[in-house]
Amino acid sequence: MARDPNCVFCKIVAGEIPAKKVYEDDLVVAFHDINPRTPVHILIVPKEHIVSANDATEAHRDALGQLFIAARQVAESTGVAKTGYRLLVNNGPHAGQEVMHLHMHLFGGQPLGPMVMPR
Ligand code: 5GP
Ligand code: ZN
Repeated sequence: MARDPNCVFCKIVAGEIPAKKVYEDDLVVAFHDINPRTPVHILIVPKEHIVSANDATEAHRDALGQLFIAARQVAESTGVAKTGYRLLVNNGPHAGQEVMHLHMHLFGGQPLGPMVMPR
C-alpha cells in the first residue's frame, strides 16, 4: 500500500501522530479534524496515500467506495444522520486543498449554509 513518509495523514494512519479516531477498517480511517469548522467535523481518509481525486484509478475502487460506507457509519455514530450533513472533497488550489492525501470532510451539527461561495 503506497505511503508518503512526509504526509501527515499517512502518519495518522500509521499511528505515528495522534488523532481522535472515530472509525477504522482495513481500507479507511476517520478522525476528528484538528480545527473543526462545525460542531461535527470528521475527516475520512483512505489508508493508502492517494494525493487527490486527480490520482484516483480503478485500483482505488474499493477504498474510494469505502469512504462513503464509513461516512454513513460516522454520520450515525456522531448523531447527524437524521439532521443532515455535508460530505466534501477539496481538490487542488481553487478548492483550497491543504493536505495532499485525499480526504473526505463530514460536516454537521448545524445548518451548513450555501454549498459554495456565491459568485
Ligand atoms: P483540506 O483543506 O486539505 O481539504 O483539509 C485539510 C484538513 O485537515 C483541515 O480541515 C485541517 O484542519 C485538517 N488537518 C490538518 N492537519 C491535521 C492533523 O494533524 N490532524 C487532524 N486531525 N487534522 C488535521
Ligand atoms: Zn498520505
